[in-house]
Amino acid sequence: MPSLQYTREPYPLLPSISKIDDRRFLRSRSTSLLMTFQDQQTVLEKPRSRQRANVCPFPLRSQAEMPSDPTVQQPVTPPQIKQITAQPHVIFFEAKTEVLTDYQIKLEQQITQHKLTEQNLKQTISALKTVNQELQHLAHIDALTQISNRRNFDESLHREWQRSLREKQPLSLVMLDIDFFKGYNDRYGHPAGDRCLTAIAQTIKGLLQRSTDLLARYGGEEFAIILPNTTTEGAITVIHSIQKAIAALSLVHESSSVGNNVTASFGLATMLPSEVLHPSLLLESTDKALYQAKQQGRDRYAVYVHS
Ligand code: GH3
Ligand code: MG
Ligand code: MG
Repeated sequence: MPSLQYTREPYPLLPSISKIDDRRFLRSRSTSLLMTFQDQQTVLEKPRSRQRANVCPFPLRSQAEMPSDPTVQQPVTPPQIKQITAQPHVIFFEAKTEVLTDYQIKLEQQITQHKLTEQNLKQTISALKTVNQELQHLAHIDALTQISNRRNFDESLHREWQRSLREKQPLSLVMLDIDFFKGYNDRYGHPAGDRCLTAIAQTIKGLLQRSTDLLARYGGEEFAIILPNTTTEGAITVIHSIQKAIAALSLVHESSSVGNNVTASFGLATMLPSEVLHPSLLLESTDKALYQAKQQGRDRYAVYVHS
């Protein structure tokens, strides 16, 4: 008598389906009954303590006894139970046919369900990616001017400092502050001040040539421009072009003490990054130069000179 391997495969949607071997499956409502099939000899010889009417998992009726149309309600007849006393291989054959058909239908349902789940997951992942990109954008862009914000500036300055250090290239930083901007707001109103800031930001953004150049709103009416691989002379050229572009905007500023239109003051510092220096030093130096430009009368630039 061959030994039958009883294994319970993990089919979550197929309760009570058990695999006997590679080709045979069993459906059982009773694990204990199924277990008895491990040894058919035992089944045949095992006396039943009491008759159980509906414990047999397989239809033991012949094909002729099966209802012809399963959709038609058949009169309820007592289950025809046969003792498992003869021809167990026939029982297996009947069980296999029924169970495999059942198993195939359920497997197809499961595949359809999995495909739907996979499709839903793909849509969810795609939506999450879009939301994530949007969040990244919001986290790094200034809402008013639509240029990089302070957070983006800080990250970029550290990144470009490290890059310049590796490539042994000069790094320039420009800070720009609109002159008498408080007076502009007071004179023309806050919304007009906002429009002025946006116009200047977008104008400077349009001027920057290299993809590595980064313009950010540093705060209030102050902007910062990171110019990697740029010498002092190169940065001064950039400042000149910004001064010209702001002048070309011709934003009337009657409260300014340095002219009739909006102007800005610039600070510039250039460094060759080294291991012993820190990017905050470049920031402090640029800020000092800007302060100097303000002190010297505004509407000009000053360059930080290392003492
Ligand atoms: P200075 O020439 O010395 O730079 O003078 P200032 O008036 O430009 O500088 P101050 O620091 O005294 O004032 C800056 C002003 O910038 C104050 C504030 O009302 C204005 N400001 C800052 N952020 C915004 C903003 O988002 N929108 C508007 N409309 N104004 C802003
Ligand atoms: Mg300021
Ligand atoms: Mg100002």
